[in-house]
Amino acid sequence: MTCRENGIGGAGRTLSTVVGMEMIRNFVGGAFADRDAAFGDVDPATGRTHAVVQVADEPLVDQAVAAARASGWGRVPVRERAAVLRRAADGIEARFEEFVAAEVADTGKPVRLARDLDVARAVHNFRTFADVVSAAGQESFLTDLADGRQALNYAVRKPLGVVAVIVPWNLPLLLLTWKVSAALACGNSVVVKPSEFTPGTATLLAEVLRDAGLPAGAYNVVHGHGDVGEFLVGHPGIDGVTFTGSTTTGTRVMRTVAPRVRPVSFELGGKNAAVVFDDVDLDEALTGLSRAIFTNTGQVCLCTERVYVQRSIFADVADGLVEHARALRLGDPNDEATTTGPLISQQHRRKVLDHLALAEESGAKAITGGGIPDMGEGLGEGSWIEPTLWTGLTNADRVVREEVFGPVAALIPFDTEDEAIALANDTDYGLAASVWTNDLRRGHRVAQAMDVGMSWVNTWFLRDLRSPFGGMGMSGIGREDGESSLHFYTEPTNVCVQL
Ligand code: NDP
Repeated sequence: MTCRENGIGGAGRTLSTVVGMEMIRNFVGGAFADRDAAFGDVDPATGRTHAVVQVADEPLVDQAVAAARASGWGRVPVRERAAVLRRAADGIEARFEEFVAAEVADTGKPVRLARDLDVARAVHNFRTFADVVSAAGQESFLTDLADGRQALNYAVRKPLGVVAVIVPWNLPLLLLTWKVSAALACGNSVVVKPSEFTPGTATLLAEVLRDAGLPAGAYNVVHGHGDVGEFLVGHPGIDGVTFTGSTTTGTRVMRTVAPRVRPVSFELGGKNAAVVFDDVDLDEALTGLSRAIFTNTGQVCLCTERVYVQRSIFADVADGLVEHARALRLGDPNDEATTTGPLISQQHRRKVLDHLALAEESGAKAITGGGIPDMGEGLGEGSWIEPTLWTGLTNADRVVREEVFGPVAALIPFDTEDEAIALANDTDYGLAASVWTNDLRRGHRVAQAMDVGMSWVNTWFLRDLRSPFGGMGMSGIGREDGESSLHFYTEPTNVCVQL
């Protein structure tokens, strides 16, 4: 999306030409900063521009990094940091519906989903990391040497310093607060670059954190396209980068960061599998699988796009999932009855449509969906897509190997447990998997055999924020959540004292 495409702003135009629209501004050093260059923020449900986003330039990013370094937040005692995080959680709760509205306007996701998942999790993220950092201990070892001396070794954990936080558009507030709450808990200051498609909630959060008593400069937001993110992650004042986004952008970020040898945490793409055995409770599995495929219009990194089904129940699972897909209600995101919103943008819909065409060329049968729904007046210009299920594909087909990031899944039969494991692991990615069975031992066995960061049995997307989150292979580097976040966002200095 460029300024020119939207017909709004642009490097050469001033904001005074844009009238009657909400202005989303950069937040640097504890204050909002105006910039002339801007682009339009489009509501993907209607295709209409609903706000104007001011673009950060390089001097503003320099200022943000300098303000972060000068914030003094790393010297604030843990107890006070935790108190600020708890007040931030309260602050989001107090402005809950504002956050919901901003998230819905930017993403087109159903209001119920924004409430129950995105904004609720944002509150939970801040409370969790206040608890996690408050309870954190330090590693220590009493060392007995062969000559009879003793030494006490202990590791003091220090914040990295200034962390660049780059997040995507699919769960903008959830992912942002997940990283920011952990980074701040550990005493880091952050400079955040939200996706160009979803600038709203990151900006609202600036007000909440300021009002919660976070010192100026500890949380900064710079808006813009990928070039702003690239400048930020390559900035000499950045001490660590936490990135969630596509594998393609992740590899680029890695190249940018490499010359300065800074720690990176990467949560990247996935091509997640579900394995459904014939001993399963079918109704429960169908409900779970439907959530795993279609939540957020398939735009969750953890969503399932490959469903391997034991042959004896293949037809039942296919029919049942078609029924679930047809029961989804696409429509006005602000209607409480809507279950499914549009894709994030026309650009992303073109990518998903290319995959629908690719599936057809590979001989797939779309047993439901496969095209663009007729959304009628008001929503016709939105980036809507039909929830789609395919049969007739194999692991050799490109559409079964590449991440689509839409409400789609390929259903593929298998005969034996070993075959199912081999099929599920036959991918370059390794983010998540789910196993559906009533056989307890099989559930554990197969879940452990999955080469992924997260493996669920008879559920999906159930997270305890104390347990590690991340991916294998092309799905990422490192883990966050709980102890893993403490490790990523700090560096230890080991002190050895001879006793
Ligand atoms: P992108 O990789 O396109 O973008 C991610 C973020 O990086 C955006 O803020 C983007 O800004 C920014 N960016 C783009 N180019 C650069 C650059 N050169 N340097 C620094 N930053 C840059 O991902 P999407 O936003 O399209 O998100 C979808 C992807 O995210 C999917 O692949 C999905 O699987 C993955 N994802 C992974 C998760 C996980 O936990 N593993 C969770 C959620 C999503 P801009 O938008 O302005 O271009």
